[in-house]
Amino acid sequence: MTDVEQVLAWDKAHVWRPYTPMQEYLATGEPLVLEGARGSRFFAANGRKYIDGNASWWCSTLGHQHPRLVAALKAQAEAMCHVPLAGIAHEPAAALARELCEISPAGLERVFYSDDGSTAVEVALKLAWQYWSQNGRPSRTRFLALEGAFHGDTLAASSVSGIDVFRRPFGGLLVDCLRVPPGQAGYQQAFEVLEQLLARHADEIAGVIVEPLVQGAAGMRIYAPDFLRALRAATKQHDTFLICDEVFTGYGRSGPFWASEHAAVSPDLLCTAKGFTAGMLPMAATLATARIFEGFLGSAERAFYYGHTFCGNPLGAAVAREVLRVYRDEKVLEGVAPRAARIAQTFERLATLPGVQATRSLGMVGALDLAGPQGYLQTRGKALCAQALERGVYLRPLGNTIYIAPSLNIPEPDLEELLSVLTACVQAL
Ligand SMILES: *Cc1c(COP(=O)(O)O)cnc(C)c1O
Repeated sequence: MTDVEQVLAWDKAHVWRPYTPMQEYLATGEPLVLEGARGSRFFAANGRKYIDGNASWWCSTLGHQHPRLVAALKAQAEAMCHVPLAGIAHEPAAALARELCEISPAGLERVFYSDDGSTAVEVALKLAWQYWSQNGRPSRTRFLALEGAFHGDTLAASSVSGIDVFRRPFGGLLVDCLRVPPGQAGYQQAFEVLEQLLARHADEIAGVIVEPLVQGAAGMRIYAPDFLRALRAATKQHDTFLICDEVFTGYGRSGPFWASEHAAVSPDLLCTAKGFTAGMLPMAATLATARIFEGFLGSAERAFYYGHTFCGNPLGAAVAREVLRVYRDEKVLEGVAPRAARIAQTFERLATLPGVQATRSLGMVGALDLAGPQGYLQTRGKALCAQALERGVYLRPLGNTIYIAPSLNIPEPDLEELLSVLTACVQAL
């Protein structure tokens, strides 16, 4: 039995929480104290069960404690937990790299392992930079990104991100990134501006980074595959790199295994994390083309001097391999179609309710904007999530955007409950 009071006392005395205004938290914060999780459910110390409406920060694509993933983790833990990839090779990392290349868009042939989404992006940016610096285009030191993008919180990753409150304190330190200016004109215009900037600054642009089809942290904003296809054509025309950050959208979140597949696009660099281990362990990968890999061959000073201690970690790699097998054996992507249809139907209906400004959905993502001002620091979303929690559903807002992103294999009764609680909360507005 968890001593809830004790946990909260320790937490409030010592834990500095992510993305949290701590003064408000210390005064009024009431986190859910959990004792366990299984499938789409959390088991709380208060004796109640809750539906995990966002797959624990978008990671737990196969539900919590999937028995096959737990078994793979246990088996690997008994054999070998951690060894470095320095002078050592092992089957989990080697076989996983091969399996990843097999399921990835054409042309991606090399896998660089790291720890999380931010480092996967960091690796992609550094590869692009160093590639041009030693392959005849040293003026290519800038990146190009969409406003509202989110690519992680390490320094380079936050430089190419476009959420102002995450970036503002670090202004002077950031990597040079050209961003499409904010505007309400929509993606058509944003991509036009992106392509104009690319044409004008082609000699300076090391790469263009995007979240394919769904800008997650921006509020689950969804754009058409045509825009991504046109961007691929433009980056080819100017011979610079397209970096697809599939940290959120990969592993079937948007329907197909990679969101890039909606546009039949093969990027030069692809970042994956989150669903990569189905949220079991922190591990990530950056996939690169043969061209980029070959740009680092030759004398020793041309090598990529980069690596994290846990690069290729056997526990993470063993789980990541089992994730791919579970997707195949349990036909996870086939199961997304009917669930996605239910999500789409529900969000279309929610759009007609008072207090809702707009809704959208794609694959296992559904989002609605509450009427009124938008932005990350808006608080009406928080109030609705608090209501949902009372009714047994855990959701987190993105400002005044409310979204669901449950596990891909959420049992259909759980999905129905999630959708009906959300609907009831919106109706109660
Ligand atoms: C979450 C996310 C990241 C950062 O991943 P972390 O594991 O939190 O470092 C990067 N890009 C996208 C698109 C993400 O959704």
